[in-house]
Amino acid sequence: MHAVRMHQHGGPEVLVYEDAPDPRPGPLDVRVRVRAVALNHIDLWVRRGLPRLRLQFPHILGADIAGVVDAVGEGVEGVAPGDAVVLSPGVSCGQCRWCIAGDDTLCPRFSIFGEHIPGGYAEFVVAPRANVLPKPARLDFVRAAAVPLVFLTAWNMLVTHARLRSGETVLIWGAGSGVGSAAIQIARLYHARVIATAGADWKLERARALGAEAVVNHSTEDVYEAVRRLTDRRGVDVVFDHVGAASWETSLRVLARGGRLVTCGATTGAQAPTDIRYIYGRQLSIFGTWVGAKRELLEVMVHVEAGRLDPVVHAVLPLAEARAAHEMLERREQFGKVVLAVSEAGA
Ligand code: ZN
Repeated sequence: MHAVRMHQHGGPEVLVYEDAPDPRPGPLDVRVRVRAVALNHIDLWVRRGLPRLRLQFPHILGADIAGVVDAVGEGVEGVAPGDAVVLSPGVSCGQCRWCIAGDDTLCPRFSIFGEHIPGGYAEFVVAPRANVLPKPARLDFVRAAAVPLVFLTAWNMLVTHARLRSGETVLIWGAGSGVGSAAIQIARLYHARVIATAGADWKLERARALGAEAVVNHSTEDVYEAVRRLTDRRGVDVVFDHVGAASWETSLRVLARGGRLVTCGATTGAQAPTDIRYIYGRQLSIFGTWVGAKRELLEVMVHVEAGRLDPVVHAVLPLAEARAAHEMLERREQFGKVVLAVSEAGA
């Protein structure tokens, strides 16, 4: 098959479009002919290298996969070659106490496609049967691939951890990111008021179109002052943060009493001061999210099927241009998802 593989960590130049062996499905696995794979920031982190991440090279990135089932392994039921599917990005053992309880992200063996196991930057990927979901009929493969990881992550943050309620106010940092564009829609689904930030005015307009009631340009405005003004000095109930060092102190300061800070990333850096007095004085809670459980993705897909949640796709590039796609994400040029389209084999 054709695949984009990396033989070492580094910049976008380590992504090489080349021939690779076809993967074979083991028992209870399916092989999927990939039609589209969406990029996520985790792709950049894994490409650059992370502490304690030991990859077997050559490695294939790509967590968000849509395609057609091509072959099934021994013992697979309910899925057949020809089925159009999307893959749940999280893979776990399925047998431990956490998996059985539905908390598969707490499984000691939890990983996502393209992290410790081969991902979707390829014509074929092998996945456990348990990860296979039907592709929503109303979405093409590109848009279907843009759904799982960001909507699952944002759902885990806002619904599961922050327990967002109608009438509450949420500050969403970085609305132009895939996860930000998902968070705005989930917050609106729960009838919350959304204040969104972005670093460019055209992105703020897009955030408004998705349902943000107020927008703040975090490059030119003081987010703390803006939020105080927009909430009559009260602050917000929930802060949705994936920015990290550049946003953290403001995120804590803008929370109202009883506020919840949820975080899933630190794209601007991982070290930031925390004034502990805010946490006890205002009775704040801080939650960390790493992906989300399969059962949560099933809830998300109900809303995606019905059109209440909709992926935002910024650009589609061919698989062979994965390097350019990574550069696009690194320059933060996008509003929504960057997706790689994988042509049908032989085409
Ligand atoms: Zn497990």
